[in-house]
Order: sequence, then C-alpha cells, then structure tokens
Amino acid sequence: MIGQMRIGHGYDLHRLEPIAPGGPGRPLIVGGVRLDHDRGPVAHSDGDVLYHAVTDALLGALGLEDIGQLFPDDAAENEGRDSADFVREAVRLISASGWGVVNLDATVVLERPRIGASKGAIRANLAGLLGVGVERVNVKGKSHEGVDAIGEGRAIEAHAVVLLASAGQG
Ligand SMILES: [Zn+2]
Repeated sequence: MIGQMRIGHGYDLHRLEPIAPGGPGRPLIVGGVRLDHDRGPVAHSDGDVLYHAVTDALLGALGLEDIGQLFPDDAAENEGRDSADFVREAVRLISASGWGVVNLDATVVLERPRIGASKGAIRANLAGLLGVGVERVNVKGKSHEGVDAIGEGRAIEAHAVVLLASAGQG
C-alpha cells in the first residue's frame, strides 16, 4: 500500500544587476553558496533564488501560504535576511503538520557562472536544512542558451519539486 504523499512545486526568478558599492545587485548566493560573479540578484532578502523556490515547493505541497505571504518583502526583519531562515520555517511547518521530506529535485537556470563546481556544497546545504541525506537532494544547472533575459545574464531562475510523506513513511 502506498502511504499518503504530497507533491509540491516552487518557482522563483530574480533580476541580476551589477554588484557595485551602493548598487542594486546583492552578492550572488545560490543554495547558500556564494558564487563569484560581477552581477547579483535584486532582492529584499539575500535573494537566494534556489532557497526561495524550495521554500515555495515545501509550502505548496501542503497548500500553505507562500513565501511572499509568510515573509513579506516590505517587512524590515526580512531586509537582507539569510534565505535559509525561510527554508527552515517551511520545514518546521511541515514537521509540525506530521510530514517529512522524501526527496527534492531542483533546477537552477543561469547563464553565468556555471554552478557545476558548487553543486556538492549546494546539495549538502539543502540536505542539512531538509533533514535528509544528500542522496535525496538533486540539483541541476542549466544555461538559457543565450536567449531572453536569463540567457543575456539579466536574470536567474530556479524550479523545485519536492515529495512529502506523512511522518514515518518517508
Ligand atoms: Zn526570490
């Protein structure tokens, strides 16, 4: 018999702007890993596009309020905030509702830099936040083939799908 399960999907996009003193771009952080780049996300929080997509996938699986509702971008306490806090809160809500994470599959779409060398660290960060082994966390990097805003380096995008099982069945 198949236990009770839920699937959740999350998506996020941030504009990328030059990182300059006083400029609009924040340092580029993806999955908790700082990437070396001359552009970074425009965001109220630290702008971690992958953590935002993962947070919305977790919340979406249970039909909870989304990240924008839980953490308003006009709230002072979210200014520059470490987006790991958002993932932690989503995991807390899921656990409190009697659910656990089975696995996560995510894709980061970014023209430059390639995330390949950082994938291991990103997976480890996510596994730690989700409380699962790294073998249950997959992260893929894709370019946008030079077209549209992402391909021109003006934006970064992330997609995430997560499967939850009622506690004890993961
Ligand atoms: Zn975001």
